[in-house]
Amino acid sequence: MKKQCANCGHTINENDAICPVCGKDRDSEGYKHPQKNKFIALIGIVVFASLAFYLVSQIVSFVEEANKPKEFKDLTNKEMQQFLEWDANEQQKKHENEKFFK
Ligand SMILES: [Zn+2]
Repeated sequence: MKKQCANCGHTINENDAICPVCGKDRDSEGYKHPQKNKFIALIGIVVFASLAFYLVSQIVSFVEEANKPKEFKDLTNKEMQQFLEWDANEQQKKHENEKFFK
């Protein structure tokens, strides 16, 4: 994007820090931009940090929820059936592995 030098009116590139004709620093906006950019960058960092924090806390609570053992009162019939089968299986294995002569 092209800009005009505030001093001599020569058309200069947006990226040029000084005017190639008169050598003056770019227009007065050139002095405001760094502050504005810093402010935007700061907001960006804050937004990104809170988003990252939110995401991490969501993941942590999801993992905690997934790892939390279910209470018996929350089990569905199917889950209770599966638990009973698993428990019977464990009891059976335990029984099979016991010494015959006690
Ligand atoms: Zn100039």
